[in-house]
Amino acid sequence: MTVPASDQPILVIGAGVVGLSTALYLQRAGRAVTVIDTLPPASGASFGNAGLISADTSVPIALPGMLRKVPGWLNDRLGPLSVDPRYFPKALPWLLRWIEAGRMPRVLQISDAMRAMHSQTFECWKELLGSNRYHDLIRPLGQVHVWETGQETPGAALERSLRERQGIRSERLAADDLRQLFPGISRSVTRGLLMPGNGFTVNPQRLVQTLAELLTDAGGTIISERVMKIIPREGGGYAVMTNTGWHLSQELVVAAGAWSSQLLDPLGIHLPLETERGYHAMLTSPGIELKMPISNKTRAFGVTPMEHGLRVAGTVEIAGLEAPPNEARAKVLLEHIKGMFPEVDTRQHRLWMGFRPSTPDSLPILGEMPGHPGLFLAMGHGHFGMTGGPPSAKVVSQLITGTAPGIDMAPYAPTRFGRSGRRRVVTS
Ligand SMILES: Cc1cc2nc3c(=O)[nH]c(=O)nc-3n(C[C@H](O)[C@H](O)[C@H](O)COP(=O)(O)OP(=O)(O)OC[C@H]3O[C@@H](n4cnc5c(N)ncnc54)[C@H](O)[C@@H]3O)c2cc1C
Repeated sequence: MTVPASDQPILVIGAGVVGLSTALYLQRAGRAVTVIDTLPPASGASFGNAGLISADTSVPIALPGMLRKVPGWLNDRLGPLSVDPRYFPKALPWLLRWIEAGRMPRVLQISDAMRAMHSQTFECWKELLGSNRYHDLIRPLGQVHVWETGQETPGAALERSLRERQGIRSERLAADDLRQLFPGISRSVTRGLLMPGNGFTVNPQRLVQTLAELLTDAGGTIISERVMKIIPREGGGYAVMTNTGWHLSQELVVAAGAWSSQLLDPLGIHLPLETERGYHAMLTSPGIELKMPISNKTRAFGVTPMEHGLRVAGTVEIAGLEAPPNEARAKVLLEHIKGMFPEVDTRQHRLWMGFRPSTPDSLPILGEMPGHPGLFLAMGHGHFGMTGGPPSAKVVSQLITGTAPGIDMAPYAPTRFGRSGRRRVVTS
């Protein structure tokens, strides 16, 4: 028997924070939903991120002046960025767009769009999880940024001005304040900033798995198959060919994280999505406790207190989806945390690598793809998916169900890079 098109569930490809949040919002709006993922829920970037939920983060990754720092970073074994020379030619168009996104007028637009999305995060997490689960999994207790330089650097001053422009509250912390807040912190850490409007999750994997449980408990379906191709159907809708199945739907959401381009390229949709690979070292017996996460802005890494220990995370590695992990990058994180907390015990640790799904302008790609009715994109959350994922999911589900989202969607439009993603890049 053929299922009438209107009764077919909406298919969501990807069971990470973005796909599952979208599926849950759609379900709550009365739609039947099926999520497809090769792997169990929360097995991609959503598994091992730093867990920061940063309602007050509105500073893009690409900023003016950053280009000057890149050669130094690339030559520094402990530096925050590495580019695989073999992969460089492939990444170059994306890197050029990244430079373009770091121009000041564009930075201000991006910052506004980040603010519009991220400021909703705690409200959306609460909506998705309900009060009890929210309080179990999420700690809206603030985050601290620290520096190991005496003077405010130009980069830090720019970040401050972007925050002030958005009216974001922060409190300066002197060296003594930091030592009170974080006993044992190294004397090399001289300055800090409390961001009271931010927070974190004690376990990103459990958080995203909880979304999956809520979905299936309410009648949603999650199937374990690998999507091999999206095929537009004559007369409308899509067939999704998987390794073992064939699924039909009028509406389809691509939320496959860093792998989304593999599914969209065959449709002629070429979006500038690159993976910024990142690493974590999970310290299971660190011997120290932290009240809240610390982002070390001088060394570009962070540490988050989680229910199974301390998670030290960071670094950006441009090396594509295929290269094996370079565990030396993760071990650098162990050196960094020792530098910040000399007493920390790093002997018991687990290393992990994940694929951030990144656009050059730090903004996700959200909405229906023009020329492909019913094909919705929810991808490209880069460094901020645990923060921007649920608010993005809410607006994408609103677009699908015909409700006007409360924010201007133009900054996140799939067409902002040109209709097929090939916008001319101006480099001078
Ligand atoms: C080291 C690190 C630290 C980070 N720290 C933070 C942080 O502190 N705060 C924050 O907000 N963000 C952080 N992030 C970013 C955040 O983790 C990501 O933005 C977010 O997890 C992306 O979610 P997603 O659902 O788009 O992708 P993913 O979680 O990667 O999910 C995509 C899913 O799609 C599935 N998939 C792919 N292809 C197919 C296919 N063909 N068929 C079926 N399924 C498929 C994959 O199996 C995967 O499960 C960090 C990332 C890293 C790597």
